[in-house]
Amino acid sequence: MSAPRDHLSTVKHVILVLSGKGGVGKSTVATQIALSLRDAGHKVGILDVDLCGPSIPKMFNVSNQDIHQCPEGWLPVFVDKEQTLGIMSISFLLDNQNDAVVWRGPKKTAMIKQFLNDVYWKDMDYLIIDTPPGTSDEHITVMENLKQYNPDGAILVTTPQAVAVGDVRRELTFCRKTRIPVIGIIENMSGFVCPHCSECTNIFSKGGGEALAKQSEVPFLGCIPLDPQLTQSLEEGQSFADKCSSSPTMAAINTLVKRL
Ligand code: ADP
Repeated sequence: MSAPRDHLSTVKHVILVLSGKGGVGKSTVATQIALSLRDAGHKVGILDVDLCGPSIPKMFNVSNQDIHQCPEGWLPVFVDKEQTLGIMSISFLLDNQNDAVVWRGPKKTAMIKQFLNDVYWKDMDYLIIDTPPGTSDEHITVMENLKQYNPDGAILVTTPQAVAVGDVRRELTFCRKTRIPVIGIIENMSGFVCPHCSECTNIFSKGGGEALAKQSEVPFLGCIPLDPQLTQSLEEGQSFADKCSSSPTMAAINTLVKRL
């Protein structure tokens, strides 16, 4: 039997993105962080381990791409011809994008291990790992298999409402139990940016993420507003950074990325 590959040892920074709930914008945050890092001159990978709800390829409009093999392993699907942003997701392995992945724990574990060992990231500066919501088999497998590579830690994404913030508390406990450092908390959908005048209105409560960060003594990385132009670029698989480079939302994303 051949020894497992060790491609993660050449990746300089590994960051996990976690959330207690689905739909709070975890994949959105993962994609925007990756784009912002790429635009700052880094080589970036995104590993989508949300096996039952992979959305990263769709957000980059590359869902219909196939994975290619090279002697070193699986090649990520690059979204640009300069090959500065590469993605790996189960989506690329499905015959039909609408197929449901109905797998029990051991099969999911094997798939994630294969993603962690066999993808040839080729000296990436950053690998962003987008995880499913909650703390399930997928998270435990990722944490156990990442430990030897000393990942930078986890970013926790929440919305401002108390229910979502409560779920992030559980994520914090999970990070402490599995000894993964917490890089910080991001409050997403924090206020609504009017597409006409760009004014930001707090339609939900505000500050829940920041208050939790303070209570839990972890860094608060910042807020990202609910921005219809961001939703639209994600739906169309276009880069929000290219379309709205001077928007307040883009400024907020760039500011929090500088705090990583
Ligand atoms: P999760 O990964 O937590 O399930 P997603 O990142 O898939 O959540 O986001 C859920 C939906 O909300 C997507 O349609 C996405 O486009 C939208 N969304 C997330 N964050 C924002 C935001 N800050 N502004 C506008 N739309 C957003």
